[in-house]
Amino acid sequence: MTTEIQTELEQAVNYRRNFAIISHPDAGKTTLTEKLLLYGGAIHQAGAVKARRDQRKATSDWMEMEKQRGISITSTVLQFDYKNFQINLLDTPGHQDFSEDTYRTLAAADNAVMLIDAAKGLEPQTRKLFEVCKMRSLPIFTFVNKLDRPGREPLELLDEIEQELGLQTYAVNWPIGTGDRFKGVYDRRSKAIHLFERRAHGSQEARETVIELGDPKIEDYLPQDLYYQLKEDLEILEEIGSELDLEQVHAGKMTPVFFGSAMTNFGVKLFLEAFLDYALKPGGRYSSAGVLDPTYPEFSGFIFKLQANMDPKHRDRVAFVRVCTGKFEKDMTVNHARTGKTVRLSRPQKLFAQDRASIEEAYPGDVIGLNNPGVFAIGDTIYNGKKLEYEGIPCFSPELFAYLKNPNPSKFKQFQKGIQELTEEGAIQIMFSVDDFIRDPILAAVGQLQFEVVQFRMLNEYGVETRTEPLSYSVARWVAGGWKALEEVGRLFNTMTVKDGWGRPVLLFKNEWNLQQVKEDHPKLELTSTAPVG
Ligand code: GDP
Repeated sequence: MTTEIQTELEQAVNYRRNFAIISHPDAGKTTLTEKLLLYGGAIHQAGAVKARRDQRKATSDWMEMEKQRGISITSTVLQFDYKNFQINLLDTPGHQDFSEDTYRTLAAADNAVMLIDAAKGLEPQTRKLFEVCKMRSLPIFTFVNKLDRPGREPLELLDEIEQELGLQTYAVNWPIGTGDRFKGVYDRRSKAIHLFERRAHGSQEARETVIELGDPKIEDYLPQDLYYQLKEDLEILEEIGSELDLEQVHAGKMTPVFFGSAMTNFGVKLFLEAFLDYALKPGGRYSSAGVLDPTYPEFSGFIFKLQANMDPKHRDRVAFVRVCTGKFEKDMTVNHARTGKTVRLSRPQKLFAQDRASIEEAYPGDVIGLNNPGVFAIGDTIYNGKKLEYEGIPCFSPELFAYLKNPNPSKFKQFQKGIQELTEEGAIQIMFSVDDFIRDPILAAVGQLQFEVVQFRMLNEYGVETRTEPLSYSVARWVAGGWKALEEVGRLFNTMTVKDGWGRPVLLFKNEWNLQQVKEDHPKLELTSTAPVG
């Protein structure tokens, strides 16, 4: 028998989609986000996201560093509606601010949009983020951007995705001309040509003309050579391409591909509509109580990101929760799986970039911000009803390492406290030398910004001025068999052995090449690039 609450949850889930964008800096993530919000009616003029960013630069005082550098460390989820759907775009920090948060955000997403610059193809940050999506078998939707500029051949880009990422591709639409001659796209779903008109900076929705492929009027709209080229391309696609297989898409093995130009709005709406048809709704998640469907009537969720000091005056901290099952209601009391305590969830927040609006309720697939007086850590589960815990969020392989030094012995206590709290919070990973004489912790990060954040917060929150001393390693691997396995292989060259926060052995390598060498020399040694939270 379906209860009232289950019907309500089912409704909510059917009309919710959430996703994160994975891309390399400059591919156009800000621009695409803005255009999606424009089509979603969340903003009326494109430019608002950027304006907000710039305005924040001018007025934000929550974190001095953000002001100084003009980067966004805080925005977390953008919510907008489109045709009855509520869409949650989980923001992954871009640019210089690449950090573990970027990876963790993918743990809260049900779908990923891989944004690629048509001229550049796959780039390093996209590849890294793709690996995390792959680990989670997330469905990936590819948007090839900047078709209004000279770029690489569309077929070549598909080939690159197939070869390098091992993802099957299915082109949902196909570009007509590129660069100055980019006229629009052919939509293989409706078998229609969508021609667009350029508008200044694409600040409003693009005006479009839709015509059938065989329509005799087509010559009034499209130069003959482009028309022939399109027909030829489509024939090739039919011949060599696979059919769209949604099961494969949902398993993260096939990616629907879209071509367009976020800046001029070409293809953005078609993308959004197809995405809503194909994307996964919030689904069941593994927990200690088995896979729980989102319609399971009791509330549960997990914390995937912590944010400290958004407002330094209040020293407030926010824990971001991905709602997994049941309905969240303001002021509800929940169980905290790790500590076994109960917590009242007051002051919940919905986040639209920097605006923090209070919320009354939330459903599976939503993200809420909770006031965190230090009780929540990354990966924590909160729940009602039967006891359960979601799978933790793993530690990701760091790529930057540095000793953190405290030159002032009288600050020893504060230094220790700061390091402990910042690592517990997940701001950075920490490792230690196996040499007992070296007491300085080793900071291990995936992005340079994490070092800066740690040093900044050590000074501002704990009053300790620190120094970093970089280590010239760039790859870390956990040893699956622990210390015993490591002893068995004997001495390893060109590596440094350290222990992580849980005392587990980690090997640091100068580069990938050194890692390959060790793997070849010791085929039995099992190394992993992620480690479960201890
Ligand atoms: P992000 O770093 O991925 O957030 O990228 P931005 O959205 O800030 O875009 C980077 C640059 O590419 C900016 O100068 C944009 O105006 C430009 N850009 C974004 N989308 C397009 C596009 O479709 N066509 C062209 N020509 N430029 C674009």
